[in-house]
Amino acid sequence: MELHVLRELRQPIGSVTVVDLQERSLPVDDTVLQNLRGSATLLRTDRGLLVTLNADALADMACSRCLATVQSPISIHFEEEYVPVVDANTGAPVRVADGDDVFRIGPDFVLNLREGVREYILISEPFKPLCRPDCAGLCPQCGADLNLGPCGCAEAADERWRALAGLRTSDREGS
Ligand SMILES: [Zn+2]
Ligand SMILES: [Zn+2]
Repeated sequence: MELHVLRELRQPIGSVTVVDLQERSLPVDDTVLQNLRGSATLLRTDRGLLVTLNADALADMACSRCLATVQSPISIHFEEEYVPVVDANTGAPVRVADGDDVFRIGPDFVLNLREGVREYILISEPFKPLCRPDCAGLCPQCGADLNLGPCGCAEAADERWRALAGLRTSDREGS
């Protein structure tokens, strides 16, 4: 996800370069993106490159019910401006206003798309992946994986209810 963009930064404003993206494995925070495929369009702006990224990948995530690792398809789309810290033609420093939220390209003119991908995943809707549509989840009492079978808590609770129902002085329970 690292692009050498010295050539692109030396092109005239308005020039467009399309780069194919392919990444077998890209760790991003708590997840790993697998088989990322897509493209990035680099548009030369007056101060840097406007990157439009469209990519699809598989993300390793935890099942929202049982926490098993599940691969979930994910689409990544963002448009971000990347501004070099030094001008590619003159070597003069390029300043951006405080609070101007752009990504910077270092003096090596390597544009790293990973941070943009990371931000996109952070701001996008939280995923609620399931390892399978009917995942039974974890027992809230003992934490057992209910996909592997009943843990016994439910039966124990049933027995307690039955015992309670059998109490005649139910108004004194709970002490
Ligand atoms: Zn699950
Ligand atoms: Zn249980």
